[in-house]
Amino acid sequence: MKTETKSELFRELPSVDELLHASEFATLVSEHGSTAVTDAIRSVLARLREQISSGLLNRESLQLALGGLKSATESQLRRVLSYSLRPVINATGVILHTNLGRAPLAENALAHVREAGSTYSNLEFDIEAGERGKRDVHVDRLFRKLLSEVSNANGETAASAVAPGRSPVERGTGILTVVVNNNAAAVLLALNTLAEGGEVIVSRGELVEIGGSFRIPDVMAKSGATLREVGTTNRTRLADYEKAINEKTRLLLRVHRSNFEITGFTEQPSIEELVALARKRGIPFIEDLGSGALIDLEQFGIRGESTVLDSLHAGVDVVTYSGDKLLGGPQAGLLSGRFDLIARMRSNSLFRALRVDKMTYAALEATLLAYVKREYTAIPALRMMSLMKEEISARAETLATHARTSKMRMELIDGESVVGGGAAPSSVLPTRLLAITCESLSADDLLARLRHNHPPIIGRVEEGRVLLDLRTVFPEQDACIADALQRIA
Ligand SMILES: *Cc1c(COP(=O)(O)O)cnc(C)c1O
Repeated sequence: MKTETKSELFRELPSVDELLHASEFATLVSEHGSTAVTDAIRSVLARLREQISSGLLNRESLQLALGGLKSATESQLRRVLSYSLRPVINATGVILHTNLGRAPLAENALAHVREAGSTYSNLEFDIEAGERGKRDVHVDRLFRKLLSEVSNANGETAASAVAPGRSPVERGTGILTVVVNNNAAAVLLALNTLAEGGEVIVSRGELVEIGGSFRIPDVMAKSGATLREVGTTNRTRLADYEKAINEKTRLLLRVHRSNFEITGFTEQPSIEELVALARKRGIPFIEDLGSGALIDLEQFGIRGESTVLDSLHAGVDVVTYSGDKLLGGPQAGLLSGRFDLIARMRSNSLFRALRVDKMTYAALEATLLAYVKREYTAIPALRMMSLMKEEISARAETLATHARTSKMRMELIDGESVVGGGAAPSSVLPTRLLAITCESLSADDLLARLRHNHPPIIGRVEEGRVLLDLRTVFPEQDACIADALQRIA
């Protein structure tokens, strides 16, 4: 198209002011206010200008677009005034999917958030004494119960046999837990409180990056502590730690490898050996556990994931972990451990900057209460882990029957779901996948169509097929997937 024709088309566009005062826009203005409507008109006109510039509009199609200016403005207003954060259906089979918000909350947690958020609460008010209280008390009491009750039940674990009567639980000083914004904040707070200006010894095999660019060396630098690397990527011996200890050493740090495993020619001292070394030299030993299981997950088919209590039993002084990974609660960072050390973290001014809101306390309190009552399957992440392949298969079959159309091929195939969230990297759960191919669409196109559904359905493509894993789909969402598939076909 020639430039002069384009400029002619530009001249056809009305001004923002003309539209704003046009009679057909009057109801929009009275409903949404002139500022919002002005913004919406500007966006609509800008879009048209762009389309003219790139030659997408000719005189006819521009006339058509101009006829639809009001409805275009309306849908622009709707878009602006609707939520950006919205629910999606997770059919990826990754239970703790960081991009999809990690752990969905339990019903009780949501109800408690609503209750605590919709009115005033005793967040920092001691009702008995009628004076200022501490926000930690609401969850610390439950952590104490969970971390000591279980400790009595498992009093004779191998770990406590190695360090008899030495763990904080067993020394009777008790375990304290404080809550910060996430596990990255928990590590930062621990390092800053206990090691600022000094050295922290970490194995080179544990200098991992965890999704979303959490890197121990970077967090260490921000904390004001100096990283003292020991060993090699695949082998670190106790003697490496021992040799690195000097008068500047403040901490021994162990980091859970989370999203990968090192196999083959490897060596790593046991927790018990590190505890013994830390005790002998009078240096605190901290473990960044990351995923933070509160109970043994073997009952759900997850192997090799040690619990917070395993570490405390073994004598680790402070354990840091996330609230929204294996714990299945809200985003939070938890620091559980020795009374005196946690008390120091709590009085660090950084703690004030990293503390969490009443809604997090409410969600966390309700989630922990489910653990105390042993109502594990009330927690969605644990419930999803506990699903048997047969249940998933039956649901997938029903869904496929409902969605059946001649345009799509659907079969059930064996596959694996994963826990995600940096938990048990090699631990997978057997599942049945819905494998879909469509006559008229490529697998990538079908995947995109599903993503543009309301609500968006997130799956994956493998070998030219779209794969959907119902393990991470709430059963009441199955019908929605079936409808979407029919509509797309
Ligand atoms: C996930 C993880 C973190 C980061 O936790 P966030 O709660 O996401 O801040 C840190 N360390 C380890 C070992 C982890 O697995």
